[in-house]
Amino acid sequence: MLAALMSGGAACSSSSQAPLGDGRVRVVASFTTLAEIAKQVGGSAVDVVSMVPPSAEAHEYELTVDQVAELHRANVVLFLGDKFQPQIDSARADLAPSVRQVDLLRGIALDHHDPHVWLDPNNMNAMVQATSTALIAAAPNATRAIRANAAAYRARLLELDRDMLQGLLNCSSRTFVTGHAAFGYLARRYSLTAVPIAGNDPEAQPSAKNLESIAAAARVASAHVIFTERNLPADLANSLARDLGIRTATLDTLETLSRDQIKRHLGYLELQRLNLVTLRAGLGCS
Ligand SMILES: [Zn+2]
Repeated sequence: MLAALMSGGAACSSSSQAPLGDGRVRVVASFTTLAEIAKQVGGSAVDVVSMVPPSAEAHEYELTVDQVAELHRANVVLFLGDKFQPQIDSARADLAPSVRQVDLLRGIALDHHDPHVWLDPNNMNAMVQATSTALIAAAPNATRAIRANAAAYRARLLELDRDMLQGLLNCSSRTFVTGHAAFGYLARRYSLTAVPIAGNDPEAQPSAKNLESIAAAARVASAHVIFTERNLPADLANSLARDLGIRTATLDTLETLSRDQIKRHLGYLELQRLNLVTLRAGLGCS
């Protein structure tokens, strides 16, 4: 009787928040970039799963039944509050108190019209720090390795930020038009102005009136380029660009990776450097 109860109890706890058999901490990240932070910082102490599959759209992505189960098995859940992913928020509400839920927006100055905080490398730095604290709490035995991993990754983010500051210093234009409102943080950090066509919902289509005012804003600011986003239909941006007689180019929002990017081992640092090349060409930076 006692044995049956005990084994029942053990089975129950192992199906919820016990770390993996090999001692690694189960981390569920709400999307690609947070998964990358967890992998970089946690190294061999963590097993990381991203809730957004390759090429899926992060904002409106609907979790599968298996993914919800995965969330419930997590030791640590990393997410961004502020309604970036409503599906994740509602699934999180049902998690047991033993699942450590970490909102990586804490400590970041927010613009509530634009959830894409990670496109400013300094915000990434703050998120790396918060992830490091959370993973150390979940895996105290790995404290030294986690601290060292976090320091190394932060150094590379600082280097990226320096290169972006330098690369975007002298440009013939500092204004660009974008698809959805994804590049506000990046623009602010590097003293650029981003004029979004749609709001922060990539699914939303702007009205004709909206398009007119965007075209007017782009003219007034003498924007030379419209940056569209990978994974989004570019029709709207292309027709606006034709009307204004300006060019289009593609920036990456780093919300999700394509299978091809995964195969080529492209991550945050590499894709931001590609964004820098695109920005420099589009804005005419010397
Ligand atoms: Zn987005």
